[in-house]
Amino acid sequence: MKDANRPRRLLLLPGDGIGPEVFRPVLEMLELIVDKKWASLEWETALIGGSATDATGVPLPKETLEKADRSDAVLLGAVGGPKYDTLAYELRPERALLGIREHLGAYANLRPARLFQELADASTLKPEVISGLDLVVVRELTGGIYFGKPRGIVVENGIRRGINTETYSEPEIERIARVAFDLARKRRKKVTSVDKANVLESSVLWREIVSRVHKEYSDVALDHMYVDNAAMQLVRNPKQFDVLVTGNIFGDILSDEAAQLTGSIGMLASASIGGKIGLYEPIHGSAPDLAGKNLANPLAMILSLALLFRYSLDREDLAKRIESAVQGVLKDGIRTPDISAYGWTKVVGTREMGEHVIQKLLAS
Ligand code: NAD
Repeated sequence: MKDANRPRRLLLLPGDGIGPEVFRPVLEMLELIVDKKWASLEWETALIGGSATDATGVPLPKETLEKADRSDAVLLGAVGGPKYDTLAYELRPERALLGIREHLGAYANLRPARLFQELADASTLKPEVISGLDLVVVRELTGGIYFGKPRGIVVENGIRRGINTETYSEPEIERIARVAFDLARKRRKKVTSVDKANVLESSVLWREIVSRVHKEYSDVALDHMYVDNAAMQLVRNPKQFDVLVTGNIFGDILSDEAAQLTGSIGMLASASIGGKIGLYEPIHGSAPDLAGKNLANPLAMILSLALLFRYSLDREDLAKRIESAVQGVLKDGIRTPDISAYGWTKVVGTREMGEHVIQKLLAS
């Protein structure tokens, strides 16, 4: 029987590039949370990505997966870097990302894009277009063209051809639709399903199944939108959206677009759920241009910890406290370079930003 009082166990995977830098404040926050007895937690760390390849020869060692299996939730920094770009596909750090998501059965990627009002000026869009923005992209994560077969580069009559396959099964669409509708019920009760049903058969099925699942959610409004229109609407009138649900490749692209609406990719966290163990990570990569310079924004990483408390540990109170601490720091005008639009803000480094958030959390 599961002991409800046992400490919850986390696996921490700092990864490469800015990963370990943005992870440092998260580790300090976890120590504070345990010290103050706000939660009973324990954690271990493991290797993933290029640092794992350097140490073990593979980007996703068996030991990392074993540690993930005995955890309640996994928190990941970022992987990748120019040093690994010429490696064979199976040895690329990014392969570890796909591998761990697949291993955990984390088929639903939630990417909330909420504008902190204090950052309205940091967005490239006019403040009146984005102020009050609060949407979530629900991206299918373990299917579609990133996994579909056949794939590869073949030679036909001396001409090379690259092949990938967009494919979705009925159960895959049904379960991601349910995640979106369940989430919308806790929000503003509106789902926009994004596809390319005017061109792709996989999207025709997608649209049909989402509409069928919708019949069980009559309290939630549903509309369908082609992906090209959705890309345009996101910059034209993003506040029309509450929950956007879409396949793997469309979600990958649209969620980065949504990220920019909020000011910086350094602000956006994500949760990958659906399996027994959730995976939480910022949406940014390892930012080799910033690595080791104390310039990266650690807030996406910190907000990923908030999502972990919300979705895997059922601690909405701690999730809110962390989010309020971040908001408090922004209210004080403290900014990392990526979100500092005007001279009046106090521009700080990764470490200092982390310290400010921890001080706010302590005072909360
Ligand atoms: P990236 O997200 O690392 O960087 C894109 C741009 O955003 C860069 O200008 C970078 O300086 C900036 N940026 C990213 N994170 C930031 C932060 N926290 N604060 C401030 N600015 C930030 O994407 P990329 O340059 O396309 O890829 C770099 C490496 O990361 C590649 O090896 C790529 O494969 C990998 N990658 C990993 C993940 C992941 O681990 N989840 C995601 C995307 C890319």
